[in-house]
Amino acid sequence: MENQTAAQSVVQQETAENIYDLLIVGGGMAGLTAAIYAGRAGLRTLALESQIPGGSITTSELVENWPSQLSITGIALGELLQKQTEKCGARIEWGIVQKLNKLEDTFVLTLDSGAVLQSRTVIYAAGVNPRRLGIPGEQEFRGRGVSYCATCDGPFYKQKNVVVIGGGSSAVQEALYLSSLARTVTLVHRRENFRAEKILLDRARSRANLIFKTPFAVSGILGEGGALTGVSLQNVLTGETETLPGDGVFIYAGVEPNTGLLRGLVKLTEDGYVAAGEDTRTSVPGLFAAGDVRVKELRQLVTAAADGAVAATQAGKYLQELKF
Ligand code: NAP
Repeated sequence: MENQTAAQSVVQQETAENIYDLLIVGGGMAGLTAAIYAGRAGLRTLALESQIPGGSITTSELVENWPSQLSITGIALGELLQKQTEKCGARIEWGIVQKLNKLEDTFVLTLDSGAVLQSRTVIYAAGVNPRRLGIPGEQEFRGRGVSYCATCDGPFYKQKNVVVIGGGSSAVQEALYLSSLARTVTLVHRRENFRAEKILLDRARSRANLIFKTPFAVSGILGEGGALTGVSLQNVLTGETETLPGDGVFIYAGVEPNTGLLRGLVKLTEDGYVAAGEDTRTSVPGLFAAGDVRVKELRQLVTAAADGAVAATQAGKYLQELKF
């Protein structure tokens, strides 16, 4: 309540020129596509990114399903997105949004720096976070053998033995990348069937140093003297347990929406995704959700980009509606 009053007084002091047409929370594919469209439409736009422009794509070693690019590194795609956004007249700034409120027709965003920004519309495109397994040793060895990003940490495991956990496209794609660095990569998955794309699976099965281990659940991360030594496994069918030695463990057990900031403000689904349809409109007028945070069937770069374009267009329409 106290914060609301403080924010309200800031709103009252501000002049209309200091109010953005559009603030975008998240500078990944969805957020920056929205920024490109909004910039081209002449909207006064600022995109806030808490890590690197490009978002989670920058942690992917290679992208091979972005139309028109046969193959591009995630980092290079992120840099192109940033350049294109700025060329189109939108700004990108580093910032972590800590609070998001709506006061009458104005959104008020408080950053961790203490800065308070205001806007007539907001596109929420904060993406997803890696899901934790919640098993013993995971937290203890996080950053010291347990990783959620092969692109970031893979180079530490040259000629070593690593374990990758998961059966989706991320696990298989990153296991493939790691197999070009590590001596062996063991891909542990709890089922015989994989969610991953067939093209990735076929490629992985043909790598001599990439070993498939199914159906095994990982029950713990093991270590000795502060160093990770492997994982404990349980065969899901027989119940038998065993230890798999390894120097590093990469976990790709899916994702969880980054929507904590929206709780109590916006309608979310039971599993925390923003309840917004294809028009990206949320339960709060003027607030749009784009990309992986939105409830949807297919979470891919192209669908994130499509959401960004739709959200920016909807934000433009909403601004027009506000004027009349
Ligand atoms: P995902 O497709 O949801 O796969 C998560 C995997 O983790 C599943 O195999 C799941 O097993 C496993 N898992 C979940 N909880 C687990 C637990 N507690 N213990 C062990 N295993 C667990 O997630 P993702 O691979 O991160 O992909 C996320 C999205 O990005 C997907 O929509 C994917 O298509 C997309 N993506 C696309 C590409 C590409 O196009 N090349 C690359 C990366 C990601 P079960 O199968 O048994 O549930």
